[in-house]
Amino acid sequence: MHIRQRIVFATIIIALLAFILIVVYMTDNITEGAQLPSGDSITLQSSDITDISPVSTDESNVTDLIDASTEPTETETPDTAGPDNNPPPTEVTNDDDGFIVYHTDSSDIARGSLILINSANYYSPPEDTGFVFIGELKTPHYRVSAPDMLLSGMAIDPLNEMMEAFYDHSGLDNVIVRSAFRDNDSQQQVLDEYIRDVGKTEALKWASPPGYSEHQTGLAVDFGIYRNGAIERFDGAGTYTWFAQNCHKYGFILRYPQNKTTVTKTAYEPWHFRYVGHPHASMIKNKNWCLEEFHQFIHEYSWVDPYKTEIDDTLYAVYFTYNTTIRIPEQYGYMISGTNVDGYIVTYITGPDE
Ligand SMILES: [Zn+2]
Repeated sequence: MHIRQRIVFATIIIALLAFILIVVYMTDNITEGAQLPSGDSITLQSSDITDISPVSTDESNVTDLIDASTEPTETETPDTAGPDNNPPPTEVTNDDDGFIVYHTDSSDIARGSLILINSANYYSPPEDTGFVFIGELKTPHYRVSAPDMLLSGMAIDPLNEMMEAFYDHSGLDNVIVRSAFRDNDSQQQVLDEYIRDVGKTEALKWASPPGYSEHQTGLAVDFGIYRNGAIERFDGAGTYTWFAQNCHKYGFILRYPQNKTTVTKTAYEPWHFRYVGHPHASMIKNKNWCLEEFHQFIHEYSWVDPYKTEIDDTLYAVYFTYNTTIRIPEQYGYMISGTNVDGYIVTYITGPDE
């Protein structure tokens, strides 16, 4: 080969290699970006994922914590979202009596799918929020009003499943997520708009001051209807009643029902849905509670005599504790969520005789 031809050939090879390297690097980054760790979740499960109820295995809110002394087991967690990328905020150990001992720290109280935020309970987000872009991960049959809209990582798969189930049911793909996560500034903006329109007293029934809106958790979504290039109000009527009737199957609740305004201190908002996870969304729905009433109820139960309830053929024990050290039978699936107020709600799968 002529020397010039060799140089040209070598240059082409080097350029090709560089191109492949860039593509590989970008693919890695995209994969990581698409699976931002759900760090705001302190939802845990025991080492045997098959013990978990079939409805509670959404990978995005599961952090598998396995004590070094136990056998590593297979999980359904994607490789890039494993414990290495998403270090647990707290420490877990196994004691000798078959219990997992979970040590929370003070920031954990604001983590988890059951946190309560309302006009009386201020929310200060943990640093590692674990938000994801809805526009990047959403399924085809619904819309988002802005490409950079954020949602808590633990709520994205359940949201997608709910939206696809609604499409299968109705053939409609015009539901739009018009608002999800809001930071302090955008929450203030929303409130200011209401104040301009209806005055301060009325405005506070519809929008909260910064720090008091559950939109700041990334666990809430507001729906609208996208029609002829405009967003119309989602009134939850007609075909759309499906959401209030079925959202619990996907871990969501209608957060501000019409018959609970005196408890929630918030006007009826047919468009506002909140992710609380399984089995709690079904508990709340079955008992006709709002989230405040669920919290009140569960505060009466301790680990000595937890509240037991059967949801989808699985028996759950649920209780409240102020303690930062929590012991849970290790053979079962379990979940811990802060209340954002005063302690933790512990949920585990149990048997009828235990
Ligand atoms: Zn809302």
